Amino acid sequence: MKRKLSNISWLVRFCIRTSPRLLFFNIFACVEQSLFVFFEYTIWIGYNLNAAENGTPFSQVALLTLGVFALFVVHQFIDSIYFEWSFERIKPSLTFRLRRQIYEKACQVDLSCYDDVTFYNDFVLSTTQTDECIERFMNDGKDFLFELVNVITYFSYLLAVDRIGLLLAAACSAVNYFSGQRYARLEKEARLCKTPVERERAYQHRVFYLHDYAKELRLHPGMRSQLSEDFDHCNQKLNTINRKYGPKLWLYGFLKGYLPIYFMLYAIYLPYLLYRAMVTHALSLSAMVILLAAVRRMIKRTGALVGRLPRFAYIGSFIEKIRRFLDYEPRLISGTDDIHDEWKHLTLSHVSFSYPDSNFAGRINAREVLRDISLEITQGQKIALVGYNGAGKTTLVKLLMRFYDPDSGVILRNGTDIRSLKLDAYRKEIGAVFQDYRIYAATLRENVVMDICTGERGETYAVEQALHRAKFNLAAQKLKYQVDTPLTTEFEKDGVDLSGGESQKVAIARTLYHSHELIIMDEPSSALDPASEYQLNQELKELARDKTVIFISHRLAAAKDADCIYMMKDGRIVERGTHGQLLDLGGEYCKMWNLQAQAYQSC
Ligand code: ATP
Repeated sequence: MKRKLSNISWLVRFCIRTSPRLLFFNIFACVEQSLFVFFEYTIWIGYNLNAAENGTPFSQVALLTLGVFALFVVHQFIDSIYFEWSFERIKPSLTFRLRRQIYEKACQVDLSCYDDVTFYNDFVLSTTQTDECIERFMNDGKDFLFELVNVITYFSYLLAVDRIGLLLAAACSAVNYFSGQRYARLEKEARLCKTPVERERAYQHRVFYLHDYAKELRLHPGMRSQLSEDFDHCNQKLNTINRKYGPKLWLYGFLKGYLPIYFMLYAIYLPYLLYRAMVTHALSLSAMVILLAAVRRMIKRTGALVGRLPRFAYIGSFIEKIRRFLDYEPRLISGTDDIHDEWKHLTLSHVSFSYPDSNFAGRINAREVLRDISLEITQGQKIALVGYNGAGKTTLVKLLMRFYDPDSGVILRNGTDIRSLKLDAYRKEIGAVFQDYRIYAATLRENVVMDICTGERGETYAVEQALHRAKFNLAAQKLKYQVDTPLTTEFEKDGVDLSGGESQKVAIARTLYHSHELIIMDEPSSALDPASEYQLNQELKELARDKTVIFISHRLAAAKDADCIYMMKDGRIVERGTHGQLLDLGGEYCKMWNLQAQAYQSC
């Protein structure tokens, strides 16, 4: 309860910080509206009934009616300014700010969080439910304030005029509250059960409409059937959840609705009022009508007020997830030391690593992916990491980039533990092209610069040079707007979809555009044609004169000119040396080389 209140107060503070006007508008509009409702339904109608019953002159009533009409106009004017103009404008700004915070956090959380299913579910929930959460909170908050002022007004009125009516209203509200609470709890349970299934369904949905999967789905009908089956399975799961929670939600929805109101009002309170009016003559008929209407409103408004409390609890539980996500403190903490010296060498000393415990790829227990790795990379060297699939090459690179920290052992930059260095400064020295690089729905220039672009001539020249060195033939591409051509056709009619090889060249150009000390290329030529691969290798050789390059490749022909080749197997470095030395050794590398050579010869 305490935590829920703190969550709501967190959201209130967030809203006020984003828009201080909000609080003022809300209080003013709600007080004005509630007082007007009280005036209209109780004072004004009461006056008219009383006037009719006691024969008040018509001219007097008519004059007052004109005055009240003028009040209606002012009230309507204030309402429209508040709702149409202010309230609806504030809502998107809140959503926008919260989303910005979530996105910023998403870039800070440890990469390992993406492997943690619970964290990932919370993350997805935070990003997808932000709009709904703000929308609900704003609407419910406004309504809550309105109801609260309403209840206070009617409470004071009934306290002064009829305490029995007040008591009945309180009893009715209690029933409303408890069934409302149960309803909200069930609704939350159902949502939590549905989230992972809906996430799975969203994935299947994505696979069926995204361009990336279109070709493969046509080629592999079996996969299509499997996905369709999974989709059906998800729908079945959702149906089961709906069947489980549907009837209970209906029951508590019914109980928190009108039933208690009608019972209290017409089975208990009305007979009591009739008795006072007809038997004891303690009430006039107009007073009886007004009291009945006032208690009815009191019951309904209190019901609406307490009925909103569980909704706040519901919102609070989502805020809990958003806060947990925003409060997440990355385990991988940046060091504090600035980097002033020139990059000279990187040393890995007895590094071992296993991915944090997760059920990634069905594995429940973490296993060591890198074992006792020691190596040194010196300035200007060209290093090749080779080995079979799953040997740990990419993981090694992730450790070098400090996306993860080793479980044991140490990585040193010029002899300093990289954990003590400022993370941004350390990573800035390294340029990497990963196997799963991405092309963004932005211009070719932006995809290369990967920063806010100035569009200046110098920048254009540098982008063209980087593309040229990555063997991206700008002239042959005949791009309508040259480097300012939008990539992907997702948003732009003039957009261009690049081939796999061309996209990879753009990703390579990214690293060449910036002057990194160390360049890491994970399978840089996997999507390139032989001519481009040859040219790229020549370019890498050029680069290696003054830069340090680590590249991972399955094609040993591409690795053969490296200064040092590291052969990896089962998370270990099993052989190291130049191409010639490794062939002489006759071990794993030699076996792999011969296998690949045979494949070429047999063609
Ligand atoms: P490939 O040549 O196929 O690219 P690799 O040598 O680069 O393979 P890695 O990608 O480093 O191999 O993977 C090494 C092992 O770690 C594999 O068994 C892989 O399944 C596992 N692995 C990779 N990423 C994760 C992760 N995020 N969580 C858990 N295990 C992972």
